[in-house]
Amino acid sequence: MVEQLSTGTPRRRPAITDPEALVEAARNGDPRALARLVSLVENESAELRRLLKVVVPMTGHAHIVGLTGAPGVGKSTVTGALVRHYRTEGRRVGVLAVDPSSPFSGGALLGDRVRMQEHATDDGVFIRSMASRGHLGGLSMATPQALRILDAAGFDLVLVETVGVGQAEVEIAALADSSLVIVAPGLGDSIQAAKAGILEIADVFVVNKSDRPGAQEAIRDLRTMLAMARYADDDWKPPIVAATASTGAGIDDLAAAIGKHQRWLASTGLLAERRRARAREEISAIALAELRRRVGGLPGESQLDELASRVAAGELDPYSAADELISG
Ligand code: GDP
Repeated sequence: MVEQLSTGTPRRRPAITDPEALVEAARNGDPRALARLVSLVENESAELRRLLKVVVPMTGHAHIVGLTGAPGVGKSTVTGALVRHYRTEGRRVGVLAVDPSSPFSGGALLGDRVRMQEHATDDGVFIRSMASRGHLGGLSMATPQALRILDAAGFDLVLVETVGVGQAEVEIAALADSSLVIVAPGLGDSIQAAKAGILEIADVFVVNKSDRPGAQEAIRDLRTMLAMARYADDDWKPPIVAATASTGAGIDDLAAAIGKHQRWLASTGLLAERRRARAREEISAIALAELRRRVGGLPGESQLDELASRVAAGELDPYSAADELISG
């Protein structure tokens, strides 16, 4: 299902009193309950803590696939082709389109939604755009929670498509179990990818638009780059898959490569390790944000200001002040 844009007749929505009931409804395939849950995350609702306590024990099943690459390489088209592929296998697929650079939810990603209209009546597909809404670190905090909700709702795969480039994209990509780095011929994208630092996080390379001239060169460039990288014998060596997402050519090969990586992660224990590493990052980020919130306060009223006055007046040393702030 594709979320409807809120331009139509406003619907009356019941108050959120029971996150448990919403989660239960989402697990039973109610797309609206699912949409509401993701909105709770996106809006940093006060219910979030209670919600996550309910959700977390239900997670761990979904395989999270990140799609990154420069604008125009075909991320949305590859996402759509993968959704189609997985649906023919009867697997449930969630899609999160994440735009770290945009404060708007929906608008910039309208095209994605329109392209996904074919799934509008299919409750085995859930597509959602998320944007940062201007919150500092909002999106990198919100995305893992949204992924948990889709996982708990019983999706087999969740595709996370990032829009925009840069460090935020790399951060979002790091949330995936398997990361696809997509390039296309003619744009010098393989080089751009190297610059953005996303080569390191690639588990599978996709050379999309392989119907276009220059596809063979792009494949050759990537092969050369990979040949220069050093891998241990038991390392995963990222395969290069040629695809024409607009016709669906090569998408079966891509899904096979993703499946192979998924099995490899599970068999080596790396899946659990990656998820642990992500949880560590997440806990630190939440704890630091909380600390910053506590330290911040209103000017003239925060504990920090009070401690600063005492340090400046020579009444307290800065180490003791910092200890007090952290424990406070
Ligand atoms: P994104 O910005 O990375 O999400 O790229 P899009 O999926 O929006 O695709 C950008 C443009 O490339 C669109 O006009 C697509 O129709 C087109 N496109 C996507 N995949 C292919 C492909 O395999 N071959 C060709 N020739 N065009 C494609």
